[in-house]
Parts: sequence; C-alpha cells; structure tokens
Amino acid sequence: MSAKPITHLDRLCIHTITTKPWAIEESAKNFAAAGVKGITVWRDALVGRDIKKTGDLLRNEGLSIVSLCRGGFFPSTDPVKRQAAIDDNRRAIEEAHALGTDLIVLVCGADPGQALATSRQQIREGIEKLIPEASAAGVRLAIEPLHPMYADTRSAINTLGQANDLCEAIQSPWVGVAADVYHLWWDPSLEQEIYRCGANNHLFAFHICDWKSPTIDLLNDRGLMGEGCVPIPLIRSWVEKAGFDGFMEVEIFSNLYWQQDQAKFLQKIIEAYKNC
Ligand code: ZN
Repeated sequence: MSAKPITHLDRLCIHTITTKPWAIEESAKNFAAAGVKGITVWRDALVGRDIKKTGDLLRNEGLSIVSLCRGGFFPSTDPVKRQAAIDDNRRAIEEAHALGTDLIVLVCGADPGQALATSRQQIREGIEKLIPEASAAGVRLAIEPLHPMYADTRSAINTLGQANDLCEAIQSPWVGVAADVYHLWWDPSLEQEIYRCGANNHLFAFHICDWKSPTIDLLNDRGLMGEGCVPIPLIRSWVEKAGFDGFMEVEIFSNLYWQQDQAKFLQKIIEAYKNC
C-alpha cells in the first residue's frame, strides 16, 4: 500500500478489545507497524502480565496509552457489592498508574432492582469516593454515557446531558466525560451538550465506530466507521469546535470482525478512519 501521509494517523487510537483475538503485545506491534499512534487498554488484556512492563512495551512501540477501560459499575441494591465495586475501581486506578496512563473510562453501571435515580445517586457517591486516590495517582476519571438500551444493567447515565450534570455536580478537575458516538448519535441535544462539555473542560475522550442498520446484537455488532448511520464527520466537527484535540479512539465490539483475519481488519479500520 502506498504512501498516504502518516500524519493522517497521528490522532488514531485503537482499543485492545477492537482486535480482541490478538494478545496485547501482538496488537501493539501491529498497530505501531501500521502507523497507529495510540492504544486504549482493556483490563482483560492485562491479565497475567506485569502491568508496568506492559506499559513500557507499549511505549517502546511508540504508542501513547490513551486510557484504561474500564472502571465503574457502582450501583447495586446490595451494599456489599457497592463496596466491592469501589475496591475494584481502586485497583483500576493502581493499574492505570502502573500502566502509565492518566485516564480511566467509567461504565457507570445500573441495577434493575432499583430506580435509575437511586443508581445515579450511587454512581455519584462512588465516583466521589475515588477522587482522592485518582488525584494522588494522577489519573482522571471519564464518565461514559451509554445508549439507553443499556439502562437496565450497564449504565444509568444515558445522555451527555446527564454526564455533564454529574460532572458539574461533582466539580472536580479529575472527573470528566468520554463521548462515544455509538451511544450518543441519536440525541437531539448532542451538539449543545458537546459544547457545554468542552466549555467546562470536561471532554476527556472521544470514541468512534458506527451503528449498523439493522443491528443484530445489542452488544457485539458495532460497525466500522462509515458502515452505519452515525454522522461521524459532523459529530467530530462539534467535538473539535468544543476544543477537543485528543485521540479518535476506535472501539468496535463485533462478533463478525473478531472472526476475521485481524491484520486485514486493521487495514479496514485505517481506511475507514481516513474517510471519516
Ligand atoms: Zn466507548
């Protein structure tokens, strides 16, 4: 393949889960060889490894470690489980610090056995408990609002407006937002909420992929950019107008793509990125 300027990829980051069949070492080597500059690490990719050494390995490949995915899952009707979640988030902060990234993405959680408002209150309390450790470790926490189809168990924070409200209530420089087009594209308030988020310096991360139509699996049928109905260039323009100049993070969970040759998939990701 010849010769598009490498600068096109300067802001491209790929999540380890996107190429899940590859071990993290393999992803790092292949991303770097393809000119990708950033990697976001899912915690499952670190199992059984020395985390600090893995961070060194990624940096030695020339990759920026954009974030660690994921913390969160704060709400529960059971106080023992709520405490276990706090403990697990504290471990995530230690892991992020050891890895050498300054950002953790939070999938905030929900418990279908209680009201969403109760889950939101527990999310706020959980995040507030973590701020001392987060600031001591130099690790920021990004609330990722999830599409409302996940409001039963995965997140009671379902719009960027709710995430902005939460950040403004918590008022900590360590707490912001990860905006993912897959979760937010449908929201009629998205443009103004992106500007609001940027104006408050809360926009910490930007995730991209596409919403396929039809979507045949609610979790693992995400599309490559350009394959679905998300107006990615438009949303990207809002995010940049809001002052965001960080990585565009490709986060695709796909049973379809995980079955394919990952080297070919990586090339498809890069082509799709260049076109969005
Ligand atoms: Zn995401």
